[in-house]
Amino acid sequence: MSLNTTDFEIILKKINAFLSNELLQVENAGRGKSWNELLPLLDAIREKVKSENLWTPQIPKDYGGLGLSLAQFGKVSEILGKSPFGHYVFNCQAPDAGNMEILIEHGTDEQKERFLKPLLAGEIRSCFSMTEPEYAGSNPTMMGTTGVKDGDDYIINGHKWFTSSADGAAFAIVMCLTNSDAENRYQRASQIIVPTTNPGFRFIRNIPVMGEAGEGYASHAEIKYENCRVPKENLLGGDGAGFVIAQQRLGPGRIHHCMRWMGICERAFDMMCQRAVSRELSPGKMLAEKQTIQNWIAESRAEINAARMMVMDAANKIDSEGTYAARQEVSLIKFYCAGILQKVLDRAIQVHGALGITDDLVLSYWYRHERGARIYDGADEVHKSRAAREILKNYGLKKV
Ligand SMILES: Cc1cc2nc3c(=O)[nH]c(=O)nc-3n(C[C@H](O)[C@H](O)[C@H](O)COP(=O)(O)OP(=O)(O)OC[C@H]3O[C@@H](n4cnc5c(N)ncnc54)[C@H](O)[C@@H]3O)c2cc1C
Repeated sequence: MSLNTTDFEIILKKINAFLSNELLQVENAGRGKSWNELLPLLDAIREKVKSENLWTPQIPKDYGGLGLSLAQFGKVSEILGKSPFGHYVFNCQAPDAGNMEILIEHGTDEQKERFLKPLLAGEIRSCFSMTEPEYAGSNPTMMGTTGVKDGDDYIINGHKWFTSSADGAAFAIVMCLTNSDAENRYQRASQIIVPTTNPGFRFIRNIPVMGEAGEGYASHAEIKYENCRVPKENLLGGDGAGFVIAQQRLGPGRIHHCMRWMGICERAFDMMCQRAVSRELSPGKMLAEKQTIQNWIAESRAEINAARMMVMDAANKIDSEGTYAARQEVSLIKFYCAGILQKVLDRAIQVHGALGITDDLVLSYWYRHERGARIYDGADEVHKSRAAREILKNYGLKKV
């Protein structure tokens, strides 16, 4: 799946224009407002995205998307990443984008009709519920949530947290143990769709994160599943297929995130350079003349360029050989890009001085929101270890 170069260039131009004419304007209008207060404005922009035929760019044409390759969507993701609202107004935001992919790949006709169709249309939101407070999320085979078969139903019991965007979501895809006795620990869990209206879906709270209470799409929830009875028709992809589906989802998802981070880096870099050439330290002497600032600018430019090339390399490999073949590249970009993101944001803030940490600029928003980048979708240390093991296999390291 990919679009020819000419059509793709036209789309990139249109999305770039959308960023300047619409998205950057919302940022000014929305300063100080909560996510829910901004929704009417964002929904109006969503309608414009639809009318310009740019909606769900990451989705195949058969399902109403633009039919881009992963590498092409990566370039779109970078442009949209320059605004905190970019992915949401194009309906390619996490976790919905990943859930759309799961439903397209593994959903039954009935599941597609009931859950995928309204998700693609932007009429509902969804969430992905896997991590648990009592177990190390870095080892996803360890979990306490169970889905026990009872006649034609599964009964789910368990405790989850960091279920992003659960507040206001219509359904959750829940990872739970349905085959605890399976010899292969990667075949013990399943993914099951749970409508959030189910009486057994108990929303506990939005977890306060980095000084923000969180609400609606911009939230991370704690949830209890209490005798949550769902029909077996809600099982995704087969009993015990939970990890296989999760791995397929996470490869492309990490490309989406990494390229979104490149967008944030570019915006922060631009702001850093603008400030350096406009801030006067003494009469006629600009901040940009200081060598430390010049070092930050040169290092940031080199690091962003290198990171982008690494992500595009991984995306091209997934496009041509599949997610499994690119697992080393995906682990490398996940920790490398998250680290570059933190560095560039930090330097941009430092160059702005006190202004950098105010909420008058978007930098402080990203600084709070993206500290998590080194943790979600696999912590740095996990990815470094995974990449190193893949490399060392070529040097004779036995499977560990
Ligand atoms: C912003 C954000 C959004 C999230 N959204 C979701 C979501 O929508 N759905 C969901 O299910 N989960 C979500 N998560 C949870 C995320 O997937 C987990 O936080 C992550 O997998 C790490 O698990 P943990 O927090 O339990 O940390 P732990 O597994 O307890 O690890 C703690 C730390 O130990 C270190 N560590 C772990 N393993 C190793 C190792 N092998 N070698 C060396 N050091 C190691 C790392 O430094 C790691 O940060 C989200 C998390 C964040 C921060």
